[in-house]
Amino acid sequence: MQEVYINLGPRSYSIHIGPGLLPRLGEYLRGFPFTRRALLVTNPTVGSLYASVVEAALAGAGFEVIRSEMPDGEEYKILATAEKLYDLAYTRELDRRSPVVALGGGVVGDLAGFVAATYLRGVPFIQVPTTLLAQVDSSVGGKVAVNHPRGKNIIGAFYQPRLVLADLGVLKTLDPREVRAGLAEVIKYGIIADGGFFTWLEENLEDLLALDAEALTHAVAVSCRIKAQVVREDETEQGRRAILNFGHTVGHAVEALTGYAAYRHGEAVAMGMVAAARLAVALDMLKEGEAARIERLIRRAGLPVEMPAGLSPDELLDSMRRDKKVLAGRLTFVLPVAVGRVEIVRDVPEEAVRRLLISAGT
Ligand code: NAD
Ligand code: MG
Repeated sequence: MQEVYINLGPRSYSIHIGPGLLPRLGEYLRGFPFTRRALLVTNPTVGSLYASVVEAALAGAGFEVIRSEMPDGEEYKILATAEKLYDLAYTRELDRRSPVVALGGGVVGDLAGFVAATYLRGVPFIQVPTTLLAQVDSSVGGKVAVNHPRGKNIIGAFYQPRLVLADLGVLKTLDPREVRAGLAEVIKYGIIADGGFFTWLEENLEDLLALDAEALTHAVAVSCRIKAQVVREDETEQGRRAILNFGHTVGHAVEALTGYAAYRHGEAVAMGMVAAARLAVALDMLKEGEAARIERLIRRAGLPVEMPAGLSPDELLDSMRRDKKVLAGRLTFVLPVAVGRVEIVRDVPEEAVRRLLISAGT
């Protein structure tokens, strides 16, 4: 068991990480001044596996639980789904101190968090992330959102949870492909901020892939700490937080050009991290041996390292220029200068990127 305390002044909260935590949710909520009526948001996949345990835990702490299942899928992370939850919250008379509990992956967490941030201008939000990605990424940092037909996460807010409970036991029912996709973000944290952690990952990858509880506890805790540290320095994304975008410039472009269907986000980020490492070598910022380590670990994690053949360099470049995290039209990359340290490089020469994309066989 580990606790990661996220120090954000009045918006501080704890992340509890370990196996077997779901039944203990009620205990963790005892100290909070919440109304004893909670809205539990999940989906049928996760709900059928874990909602009854969570409901029992909440009931044990005196909560009346109103359960709502949104359909499973990114396409339901939209305002129409949020509206159904507002209706339910209103008819069941949830008040300003009634917690919204998100039980699921990043989709459920982002949507339930958006509802919590906006219903009555904000009600307490509890995250119970059930994918590795949600445990190391989406449940830390306070971003909540729904998608707009024209783009992902276009409508959202910065809104911190009051508590995060990451039960590692639930990862056993997760599709191994989802576990690997989550590992891509874990590896990212090592590269951007902690060379020692990267080395630890090199030594413990097999245990992680086997979902060993002790290894997972360490990896999730370190990941949350790194993300929290970066976010604390830049809570509303003005500058340094951009390093979390390592691997995402190319990754987002690959996702967009393949219609968000062929790859999990983490897989696209894996390709993007390898591309960024190669770009850094080409720009004489990174030693080849370091890029090779990055590529090797990503490959060992069962993640793709080569971009899909057949994507046109021009379309990729176009898509990168449009990325909403990129400053108007300039090609900005987060590039490693060593395993454990990255720099934000604005105005990367387009020719260097183009050469990389062409040599990647596109
Ligand atoms: P997801 O929520 O769609 O979950 C993936 C699949 O796994 C779903 O089918 C889900 O039902 C299933 N599942 C979840 N937990 C399970 C379990 N324990 N056992 C069996 N099946 C389980 O996908 P995700 O990768 O967790 O999240 C992706 C979303 O997160 C995207 O919408 C993305 O925009 C968002 N995101 C947000 C942030 C943020 O900072 N808020 C950061 C990264 C990603
Ligand atoms: Mg990501």
